Amino acid sequence: MYEGVVQDLIDELGRLPGVGPKGAQRIAFHLLQADPADVRRLADVLVEVKAKVQFCRTCFNVSEAEECRICSDPRRDPSVICVVEEYKDVVAIERTREFKGRYHVLGGAISPIDGIGPEQLRIRELLTRLADDRVTEVILATDPNLEGEATATFLIRQLKPLGLRLTRLASGLPVGGDLEYADEVTLGRAFAGRLAAE
Ligand SMILES: [Zn+2]
Repeated sequence: MYEGVVQDLIDELGRLPGVGPKGAQRIAFHLLQADPADVRRLADVLVEVKAKVQFCRTCFNVSEAEECRICSDPRRDPSVICVVEEYKDVVAIERTREFKGRYHVLGGAISPIDGIGPEQLRIRELLTRLADDRVTEVILATDPNLEGEATATFLIRQLKPLGLRLTRLASGLPVGGDLEYADEVTLGRAFAGRLAAE
């Protein structure tokens, strides 16, 4: 245990994902020795990102406006919606330049171990969007791991009765990993070769 505010800093850093107690200490001591101007910049950007960035009211992508730049872009095809788990998956798919439709960000995947069920994800909001009959295809692009599979299976059951074209990314993605870890070529190919979801 350290003195007052230093311990507070370690505690706060330790609550971040992927930062264990050891990592929190390492970052804290790095900050204590860093140039005050550098630390100020970090503090400012943390405050700024929370003040400026919100979630798109349509697709729940990260956005600096009420609607994200993809939803508000008239060149993006509104008839195809690609369903992903997280914002970082949108970034990964955008990098492939293979997809010209729109997105729906679920905000995670079904994971009973972590206490995340379908009701914690933005599935209700997806169903509301699909009530708009402009949508003709839904691409399920959840991660190629257990949680992603469980989420896709749940969505297939929910969406099948709507009679839309339901597709999934072609195989070839690294199994067990995150979508974002796939290289652009592999992900682009999986997109182009997408298959009917069963
Ligand atoms: Zn959006």
